[in-house]
Amino acid sequence: MKRFLAHLLPALCALVLAAAPCRAAPGAACGPDVLGVSRVITINAGQRLALGLQSYPRTLDLHDHEVVLTFDDGPAAPTVRVLDALARECVRATFFLIGRNAEALPDLVTREIAEGHGVGHHSYSHPGGTLRSMTEAAARADIERGIAAVERAGYGAAVAGPHTPFFRFPGFADTPALLGWLAGRGVTVFGSDLWASDWRQMTPETELALVMSRLERLRKGIILFHDSKASTASMLPAFLRQLKAGGYRVVHVTPGAGPTPVAGAPPGWTSTTEPIIARTLGDATTSGAAPRRR
Ligand SMILES: [Zn+2]
Repeated sequence: MKRFLAHLLPALCALVLAAAPCRAAPGAACGPDVLGVSRVITINAGQRLALGLQSYPRTLDLHDHEVVLTFDDGPAAPTVRVLDALARECVRATFFLIGRNAEALPDLVTREIAEGHGVGHHSYSHPGGTLRSMTEAAARADIERGIAAVERAGYGAAVAGPHTPFFRFPGFADTPALLGWLAGRGVTVFGSDLWASDWRQMTPETELALVMSRLERLRKGIILFHDSKASTASMLPAFLRQLKAGGYRVVHVTPGAGPTPVAGAPPGWTSTTEPIIARTLGDATTSGAAPRRR
C-alpha cells in the first residue's frame, strides 16, 4: 500500500497543479506564496537513461527556469533542517542515500518518503576510491547492499527492485559495465547539470551566491546539493525563497511510464566530471571510463 500511495501521490499532484502548488508535506500550509512543485516528470527506466550534462551528453528536457532539486550523501544530521525547509515551501526533491547512513538514521528515510520525496540510491559505503576503482563484482555488491539498506530503512523490507530506481555514482565515477548493468536492472542514472560545490567549506551566504550565479547562467537544470552539509541546510530556506522570487519552478521526478523528455547536449560538449575524477583518482583508475565526448 505504501508503495502504491508513493506512486499515486505524484499523479494526483500533477492533476491539481493548475489550481495551486502541490502539497509536499502532510499538514504543511501550501498557499500561493510558497514555491511548490510546478510539474512532475516521470522517468521511464526502459529508456536506459543516464542524465545530467556535467557527466553525460543528455539531460532532462526542462523548460526555461525549471529546476530539479537533488541531495546526496544523507541521511545525516543536517537532513532534518533540509526537510523542514522543503516542507515549508511545499517542495519535493530527490535524495540519493548512502546505505549505511540509512541504516543509522532510518527515521529520516521514512520521513523523506512520507513527505513525498524521492528516495534514490548512492551506494552502501560511498567508497573513498569510488566504485570505479573497485572490481566490478565488488562495486555491484556495494550498490546492491546500498539499495537493500535503503529499502529496509524506508519500507521495512528489501524487495527485488527498488521503489525509486534512481542511482547516482559517488563522485560521478561510473564505468561502462556498471552503467549497462544498472540499465539492465531498470535503474536510471542521475548526474547533475549544476552543483553548489558544497563539499567545499564555505559559509551559507557564499554557497547561496555561488549556486544562484550558476543557475542564473544556465537558467535551468538538475541541481546537486548534499543534505549532509550544514551549510546547505542553512542556506536552503533563502535559496528556495530566491527561486520563488526569480520565477523559477521546481519539477519533481518520479519513476513512471514516461516518455521521459530528454535533451541532447550542445555541440562541443565535454564532461565536467571526468577531469575532476582523473585528478582525484589518477589516470590509472580512469581507464575504464566511458567515452566522454559526443
Ligand atoms: Zn556522494
